Amino acid sequence: MSFDFVKKLDFESEFFELYKLSESSYAAISKENSGMGGNAGFIDIEDYLIIVDTTINTKAAEDLKKAASQYTHKEPNFIVITHYHMDHLMGTSLFDISTQIMTSDRTLKNIQTEGKKRIEEFKKMDLKEMEDSLAAEKDEEKRKEIENDLKFIKTVRSDDFFLREPNLTFKEGCVIYGKNKSVQLLTFNKAHTNGDVIIFIPEEKVLFAGDLLFARSDPWLGSGDPEGWLSVIEELLTLDFKVTVPGHGKLASKEEFSLQSQYIKEIIELVKKKIDAGEDPTQIGREDFSKELQSWKSPVLEWNINFLAEFLKKS
Ligand SMILES: [Zn+2]
Repeated sequence: MSFDFVKKLDFESEFFELYKLSESSYAAISKENSGMGGNAGFIDIEDYLIIVDTTINTKAAEDLKKAASQYTHKEPNFIVITHYHMDHLMGTSLFDISTQIMTSDRTLKNIQTEGKKRIEEFKKMDLKEMEDSLAAEKDEEKRKEIENDLKFIKTVRSDDFFLREPNLTFKEGCVIYGKNKSVQLLTFNKAHTNGDVIIFIPEEKVLFAGDLLFARSDPWLGSGDPEGWLSVIEELLTLDFKVTVPGHGKLASKEEFSLQSQYIKEIIELVKKKIDAGEDPTQIGREDFSKELQSWKSPVLEWNINFLAEFLKKS
């Protein structure tokens, strides 16, 4: 999907491509296999500079900070964290303590529980298995993935690493008012996680969706509520926006949300059918989906099937 009003900027980063979406907003779209994790961005509403997410990689977050400074000549006033997953969160400690870190109540709680638990697990993990599989792996793409995971875990284990937690939270939403524009933060409790935050700039019709959108790839269903996610998408589609920065994947339009809904509906149906027939859901493949979804590539399909097989048995 390309947008004629979007301008690609010539900022040099090994991690992301930088785009100017509107007068105020910029998107940092992760390059494939760069190890950046989720997409990020920044919004300059004259009085305030707002950073959206801080990636999984402190070096990528460093580049994001540099880009924001270069294009806005401001220091960040706020960081908005879209949800608790590590691939959106790890760069917070790079920012000055005067930068307020905002998120939903539930996301802060998830960071303090699930997030911390994950970090402790990474600290205890025996890396030998990963190092061995890296040594044995021939496929270049898979090697890159393992290398990026190892880099991430080593960062978390280094003595100087710490995670700065959000210090400003909201229950349902919040608005940051600039002189001429406002930035709306809204949260939902049943979708990708139980505390997803979106950032919407109505005057410019721009939406930062966090992981409520994985553009044209399998959305990870296992931390949230797949059926609730469908109704959240319905709600998002009523907003007036012309471009979305997804949590993963390229810049998107409303069409990508509809495709994602279609995927969620189809995968639920497919797994249900297998369970009802007493068959093994792990036999579901790409070819069982509608044509427009068959070209998606991601190991998440397998994880989603395993997750749904358990989830649907319980519900
Ligand atoms: Zn996520």
